[in-house]
Amino acid sequence: TQRTLVLVKPDGVRRGLTGEVIRRVEAKGYSLVSLELRTATRELLAAHYAEHEGKPFYEPLVEFMLSGPVVAMVFEGERVIEGFRSLAGATDPTAAAPGTIRGDLGRDWGLAVQQNLVHGSDAPESAEREIGIWFPSL
Ligand code: ATP
Repeated sequence: TQRTLVLVKPDGVRRGLTGEVIRRVEAKGYSLVSLELRTATRELLAAHYAEHEGKPFYEPLVEFMLSGPVVAMVFEGERVIEGFRSLAGATDPTAAAPGTIRGDLGRDWGLAVQQNLVHGSDAPESAEREIGIWFPSL
């Protein structure tokens, strides 16, 4: 079986969509194995978003991710990484297909960063790396 890191980003928590995200992931059949509400730190985000350092959206992305608490979760199940990314939809919430979390619940707010409600790991190696960053005891 496989694990993935899911974050409800600060926009999702602020808008009260945490339960809706969890509902969709559980309804698809994945199991919640860990959950924590917490405010990130610069150090944690530097590790989490290391691959994006230097990109034009990096600083606004970090500021956005520090703008309020996030809900960090680990979900488990066969091919959960691919399954969650399919549930989440495309990065740009305006373009994300209806039926997806971003497509149904998100849109462009005219800000420097795509405020797209959720994060999900994109590969087994990044999932294990990200779980280690957010849940060192797992
Ligand atoms: P995530 O990793 O958050 O699930 P993703 O894999 O679709 O989303 P990445 O390419 O890893 O997106 O980018 C990380 C985050 O940075 C995005 O989720 C989004 O919030 C922001 N982002 C990415 N590309 C852009 C961009 N071109 N302009 C503004 N913000 C961006």
